[in-house]
Parts: sequence; structure tokens; C-alpha cells
Amino acid sequence: MPTRLLFIEPGGCHDTLNIKLIEGAKAHKQYAALSHCWGSNQPLRTVRENLTQFNKSIPWPDLPQTFQDAVTVANSLGISYLWIDSLCILQDDFLDWERESSQMANIYENAVVTIVAASSAGDSDGFLHPRPEIPQGTVMLQPKKPGLDATPVRFRGRLDHYDDSRLQDPLEQRAWAFQERLLSRRTLLYSTHELRWECNQLRLCECRHNSLTSRANSSHPYAIEPSLSAPPTRTDIYAHWHLQIAKRYAKRKLTKPEDKLPALSGVAHRMSRLLDDQYIAGLWRNDLFGGMLWQTETNSPPLSKPRSYRAPSFAWASVDDAITYHLYTLMKYINQSSEILEVFCQPAGLDPFGQVEKGHMVLQGPLVSARD
Ligand SMILES: [Zn+2]
Repeated sequence: MPTRLLFIEPGGCHDTLNIKLIEGAKAHKQYAALSHCWGSNQPLRTVRENLTQFNKSIPWPDLPQTFQDAVTVANSLGISYLWIDSLCILQDDFLDWERESSQMANIYENAVVTIVAASSAGDSDGFLHPRPEIPQGTVMLQPKKPGLDATPVRFRGRLDHYDDSRLQDPLEQRAWAFQERLLSRRTLLYSTHELRWECNQLRLCECRHNSLTSRANSSHPYAIEPSLSAPPTRTDIYAHWHLQIAKRYAKRKLTKPEDKLPALSGVAHRMSRLLDDQYIAGLWRNDLFGGMLWQTETNSPPLSKPRSYRAPSFAWASVDDAITYHLYTLMKYINQSSEILEVFCQPAGLDPFGQVEKGHMVLQGPLVSARD
């Protein structure tokens, strides 16, 4: 359970709900979580100075529109507790932030539902507002055979749901939101054009695109584990990590470059339980040759690197570029004469899946000439 939760006091109506921040929420099991874009300015956040006040009450007018909308949705669903990162984690206390962010997997997994404010670019935008209309109309199809009546056919614009390259909603571009989606058991997603439901058994949306598809189906784009007809092998799981998680995650945007590994730490934590393997700055100890087969999407220098050290250069987390694993299919041809003699990776803090302070590797194998 998260250390703090927002409590929605019963009895209020939607525009005058009483909210306060409660600590030690272990006894309360039913809470919703919010996945949202912070935007360029954070109108309201919890810091040491306002914590005592927020424990008593957070005035409704002070809540930005996205938070008000999330409280309204939770309250309408009969859920009295809500977790919002910027209010439930002290934003000026690194230790508090590190402890809570290392619990991210549990926080989203244990939420009854995650409210995904996909259409909001910032906390001031909100998501419970009239939606732009999808272009639609009717055409009359005239049969070739004479004497038959024309048939009206309705059409409407296509909505893109799970194609990463075409997704338009602001939250679909953000790095933190990726693992929030993967870790959640149930999501209620407010996109620009429609409302979508997603859980382990079912996904439904208003336009009925790919409805009734189980997460157990391999085509589900937000499955944390590969879903195949047979139980996945370790090779399947490593491939899933590289191709369906790391590759898709790396192209998403971060406000703070140092969050590259922390914003995926919850998924890495889950995956480590599945693999029982050591995490090395976004790669896995027993699959390092496969993990190192990444290249940048443009495949041309210069690499885009953060100003401060973030990961050893053999890890994709060391660059800001989008990556591909085009060479991954060559894994089976990799010369088995190569060997990793030593690998070392030191986390910067308490979380073994979070920021990295330093790392290196010693390899042994044949050398070949390469272009400079
Ligand atoms: Zn749809």
C-alpha cells in the first residue's frame, strides 16, 4: 500500500467534495490511482511546508481540473481513496520520493482501477469535458442491378488505439505513463475521442475497436509478460522485454532525464520476479548479449546523451534516442566464443531498479574490424 492516500469525505456533491491527505493507509484497501501528464507547471503538489495543512483539508478550488475530474470519477464509482503521485509523495524530499517510487509496481497493481487522463496535456486541462466530434457521414451505395434501391452506409474517421506511431493523446507520449498502464489491473482511459476500459479479461471502447480481446491474447500491447499459447520460455520473456517494453518505452518523453530508469522500475521489478535475474541498467544479467543488440532508430551519430551520467554506454538508458532491436533476430548466430567475464552496476540509491551511479563490463571474445 502507498504511504499516503487522498480521502474523499462522503456526503459532498461533485463540486464541493472535501479532500484530505491521510497517512498510514494500510487499513484501506480500495483505492483508485491516477495516471496523468503533469504539464509544464504543477499547480498543486505536496511539500513539507503544506503537509500538515493537507492532512486536515485540501480546498476543492485549489485542486487543478484533472485532479477534480479524477476525484469526481472515483467518487462516482463509490471509491473513497485516490492516489495521485504529486499529492501523495513529498515533492521536496528525495528519500520519500525514492521510497514511494520504488513501490510504484505495488501501488498501481493494488489499485482497484487506474484512471488514465490520456487526453490532458497538463493538470490544468481536465478530461471530463465535451469531446471533439469524430468525422462521420453517410454515403448512398447504388447497386449495379437496375431496379434495386440504393443502400445508405455510414462511415466515421478511424481511431488509433494501440499503434505507438499514431497515438495522439498527450499521455501516450510520456515515459512515466507507460509502466502505469502496464502495471494496472484495470484502467479507465479518457482519450480525446472516447472512453476505454481495459482489464486482464477484457478491453472495450465506445467505437468497439478490437473489443472483447483478453490480455492473455498475444496481441495485447500492454501485457507485461509475453502471452503465447504455450507457457513462455526465458528466451520469449527476454525478447518481450527488449521488443515490447524497452523499445517502446525508450521513445517516450521525460521531463527529468534522470528518471529514465526510475520511470520503468516498477515493470523491471515485476519482471525480475518472473526471471529471477539481476537487472543491469535496463538489461538482464543472463541475457546481456541480447540486451546489448540495441541501436538508435536513426542509426547514425551523434548519439543524443543526457548531460549527467545515467547508465553505462552498453545500456540503451545511456542515450535519449529512440532505439530498435533490428539485430535481435541475429541472436541465434552470435558467436558463442564470447564471454562476459565481469559485469558491475551500482544503483545510485536504495532501489536496485532505479538510478545508476556507475557500471562497467569486461568481455572476452574475438575482435573484428569495424568502420569508424
Ligand atoms: Zn475505440
